[in-house]
Amino acid sequence: MRIVLMGPPGAGKGTQAKRLVERFGMDHLSSGDILRAERASGSKLGRQLAGYMDAGKLVPDEIVVEIMAKAIADGNAQRGLLLDGFPRTVMQAQALDRQLERAGKPLEVVVVITASPGAIVERITGRRSCPKCGKAYHVKFIPPDRKGLCDSCGAKLVQRDDDTEPVVSKRLDAYIAQTRPVIEYYRRRGKLKMVEVDGDKPPDDVTADLVEALQAFCAHV
Ligand code: AMP
Repeated sequence: MRIVLMGPPGAGKGTQAKRLVERFGMDHLSSGDILRAERASGSKLGRQLAGYMDAGKLVPDEIVVEIMAKAIADGNAQRGLLLDGFPRTVMQAQALDRQLERAGKPLEVVVVITASPGAIVERITGRRSCPKCGKAYHVKFIPPDRKGLCDSCGAKLVQRDDDTEPVVSKRLDAYIAQTRPVIEYYRRRGKLKMVEVDGDKPPDDVTADLVEALQAFCAHV
């Protein structure tokens, strides 16, 4: 299965992507994770990325398309592909279509996880993670046993630089202006299974809805 996972920041794409990969075993490529890794490497490109990311702006298409095209080409296409956070503009979607079609492995499913603006802000601003082992927390929904410390390795939990309220509202603006049109692009393009799930539901219910929709798709191909 080749899937694009879309939805506003904080809809739960990262959480659901991990669960779908456990269930179906495809390659998972998160553009946000790939860009953060480049940034953490301290490279010149990484420093350039930081300026956009910290301001809640999208990284320019030509940079993201090049980085993601390489990650996709390096991946194991036989296992299937779950793209999370990419594409985020119509231009990125067109570049992705061209690459996958050239490889004879076109996109099959577009999943949209919806979420209401109030839920988004609460979810994102409460997000924390462990810089050592990567475990994810939320100050309200998944609090650690000891405030601010990782349950698994005791490290001090951190908040992503772009998970603060002013930046979240910029990220939402970018989603509405630049990413929502991608959903319409895919609807019009046809030949794709479109799946929409309600991301305001508890995470386990969202996973159940997704698994049901994807299994139904598999049964028909
Ligand atoms: P995410 O972890 O998906 O919320 O992404 C964090 C930040 O990385 C975004 O706010 C953007 O600045 C940047 N980013 C991630 N994916 C893309 C993309 N496909 N196009 C442009 N910028 C991106």
